[in-house]
Amino acid sequence: MAPSYFIRVTLNFIFHMTGKKNRPHTIITIDSTLRDGEQAAGVYFTKDDKLRIATALSKAGVTILDAGFPIVSKEEQDSFRAVAGAGLKAEIFATVRPDNHEISQAKELGAVGIFLFFPISRILSGLIRSVSFAEFQTIIVDAVTHAFSINLKVMVVLEDAGRAGSGAEEDTIEKLQALGVDSFIIAESVGALTPWGMQQKVAQLVKAFPKIKFGIHCHDDYGLATANSLAAIEAGAVYFSGTINSIGERAGNASIEEVSIGIKNLLGLNIDINTDKLVEICHLVEEISGMIVPPIKPVSGSNTFKCESGLHARALLRQKGSYEPFAPEQVGQSRTFALGKHTGMEYLEFLLDQKKICLTGEQKERLLTQIKGFQEKHKGTDLRDFIVKCRSFYKSHAGLSDDLFMSMVEGVS
Ligand SMILES: [Zn+2]
Repeated sequence: MAPSYFIRVTLNFIFHMTGKKNRPHTIITIDSTLRDGEQAAGVYFTKDDKLRIATALSKAGVTILDAGFPIVSKEEQDSFRAVAGAGLKAEIFATVRPDNHEISQAKELGAVGIFLFFPISRILSGLIRSVSFAEFQTIIVDAVTHAFSINLKVMVVLEDAGRAGSGAEEDTIEKLQALGVDSFIIAESVGALTPWGMQQKVAQLVKAFPKIKFGIHCHDDYGLATANSLAAIEAGAVYFSGTINSIGERAGNASIEEVSIGIKNLLGLNIDINTDKLVEICHLVEEISGMIVPPIKPVSGSNTFKCESGLHARALLRQKGSYEPFAPEQVGQSRTFALGKHTGMEYLEFLLDQKKICLTGEQKERLLTQIKGFQEKHKGTDLRDFIVKCRSFYKSHAGLSDDLFMSMVEGVS
């Protein structure tokens, strides 16, 4: 890391190391793109799509893949079996509810472990369960006992933990720890917490259960998924669950690319994923999912390391890192400059020099004036047309249309 980048993060390191002695060295990534990512309205992965994404993630170093929710459909089961049988280095887990049939099915399809969902908030527990909290805890105990009896690893997902009632998590963890469960995922299913609230919650749980490994899974409803994930990890979570390009339910999930680079650069911790593979994987998921990566998306956006402003370009040409948070190569990007209204003379001279073109001072001034004025005279409607097309595309690709639905209804009537 160049000194110019390092200076920016020194304060974080000092804060981070103070009073946090039992920090793990490497944070383990759980990819949820294949399951939660596909739950984004309008996103559908074929078996081949899932295999391509899973292979890329495994090659990049992701330790655990949530390869799907097999009970959803026959197609989901086929895809899951294919990913589990692909000989990947990553461990393949299935998402299941506390139901012995679903758990056995995960095993038969080749899962080495399960994410066992337990809706812990009052609002979800009231809607999903028709039994009391205590009775449901008994169901979870039975499910864990069954999973262990068929040699599955178990991570219990405390769904909607951000809105869990006081003491609900502790009581559940205590009961399941006695059975041998050592990993729990705090699922911020609707983005209810601020980073400060998250930090407090995870710190309390880590303190109360020092032998348990906690993970974090955040949604981005308030644009806080990255901040909340980092806050949880700083408070002691050792697993990070997210999706590539943030794709997922509603506003999406914590972005693997954002959080993993934050873990490395802001928290100074290791992570299993090779960050220089991130952008390649982001592009793959963008193409397969049809969910466009915004140009200004951190880490993977096409504008993220592109500079037009004369002042910033001048600084960057003199000192890498002056107007960059980290080296673009760290995530598989490269630094580029754009010509436009904000271009300055120093970048123009750099460009001419690169192209071995020699102009007089007066010629350069005239050229710069032309560059700065070009967009004013030539702005067309192509940008607006593109955006209108995109909106219409997403409108028509958010699941099956009403007409199609009605023709299916007629077909079965
Ligand atoms: Zn989720």
